[in-house]
Amino acid sequence: MNYQSLSIGAPNPVMTTGKQKLALAFAGLGVVVLLIVWFARNAFAPLPVLLTSLGLMAAGTMLFVREEYLTRPAGIKNNGVWFRSLSARGVWGWLAAVVLTGFYTALYFGPESWFAGLTALFSPLSRLVSGQAADKWFVYGALYTFSVLAMGLKFGYKYRHNRYQVIRTISVCFFQFGFAFLIPGFMKMMNQPEYYFTYFWPLKDWYGTPSAVQYFGGYAIGPYLIAFGALMTFVATPVLTWFFGKRWYCSWVCGCGGLAETAGDPFRHLSDKSLRAWQIERWMIHSVLLAVVLMTALLWVNSAYRGAVLGAFSQAFATGYGYVVGMAFSGVVGVGFYPLMGSRVWCRFGCPQAAILGILQKKKSKFRITVNGGQCISCGNCSTYCEMGIDVRHYAQRGQDVVRASCVGCGICAAVCPRGVLRLEGAADDAGERGVVR
Ligand code: SF4
Ligand code: SF4
Repeated sequence: MNYQSLSIGAPNPVMTTGKQKLALAFAGLGVVVLLIVWFARNAFAPLPVLLTSLGLMAAGTMLFVREEYLTRPAGIKNNGVWFRSLSARGVWGWLAAVVLTGFYTALYFGPESWFAGLTALFSPLSRLVSGQAADKWFVYGALYTFSVLAMGLKFGYKYRHNRYQVIRTISVCFFQFGFAFLIPGFMKMMNQPEYYFTYFWPLKDWYGTPSAVQYFGGYAIGPYLIAFGALMTFVATPVLTWFFGKRWYCSWVCGCGGLAETAGDPFRHLSDKSLRAWQIERWMIHSVLLAVVLMTALLWVNSAYRGAVLGAFSQAFATGYGYVVGMAFSGVVGVGFYPLMGSRVWCRFGCPQAAILGILQKKKSKFRITVNGGQCISCGNCSTYCEMGIDVRHYAQRGQDVVRASCVGCGICAAVCPRGVLRLEGAADDAGERGVVR
């Protein structure tokens, strides 16, 4: 019996073909080149070495995913996610979590000098994009963008039969590459402030503070940037959320969501679906929202009274928020815990932008996931692959529409449903019907 094609009954239904092993070797070699440069603190010949490293990783990814998805009929392929060590909290999963957490800790809390080899390696690219030598943040931004694009390609192949997923993936890749990588670099090259058009207050908490207004005010373009940020926070956010739900941002635009949807896709089933997790989630995310509102208000009060009332308190509060939420939570835990808690740890438990969008989505939005309950066979695929830990099956079994603040509208629940039960309301391409495996 061919267990590999059936994916049932075998002790481990995951098989890696010879081509895939070769692809993994290519990608691994690319990573090794990066590590050598990093630890040797010497880029040797930066441009050829950089091209070799990224080229090997890109070629390895491409070869692996083509073999994985294009050699079989289109349709959802989640075979073996609970059998793979990496995606089932096995040894490789824990190792990945330790490495990612370590990397982010070094990035956020370590000195620039720790990244000397990598900054030298990425400097040719940085000069091309921003006209300046690379610092550790450029290296991070470049690797982040590379991950979104490479894993976005994988995601695109995996869900190629589902138009909603393909368009959504092109969207996050476009915004990450264009708006979070190229444009801020280009602005630097033009001696303008490095502005990220895809982030606004409260996610980018600094954009809402007096020091940001003062900083941008020093540039001719500054008032437009301030106006743009205010418009996005106070006008576009409620209007777009009313029409589309929070997915317009969390699943189509945001860089954090972009990484979660692409690089984080192999881990989406690891989100905790328990009631307890839902309770903790609501407490945590609204506490962070409260903290950022308080912090911003304190900074403005302090600025208005020129420090006479609050002294150094507001700045100390802002610094603490930056360390705890901005660095430790959104960075270190947010990505480092992908292999343990799923891909949306930050979006689910900490992001203040998601909190606001969630409140709007629940109270004032046309978005919902409609349910054709009579067709549900209670297989639980929808709940399993919901990265936000929503027990979608609970709603499906009762024929009850899903209206949840945390839902990011990724549409995966609808895509993996074998019965076409779920439908993202208003989506002309109807992820629900297209998700049916025929
Ligand atoms: S309920 Fe469905 S659309 Fe919403 S986050 Fe979960 S999987 Fe995505
Ligand atoms: S995936 Fe579809 S059939 Fe399975 S439990 Fe969810 S709604 Fe029901």
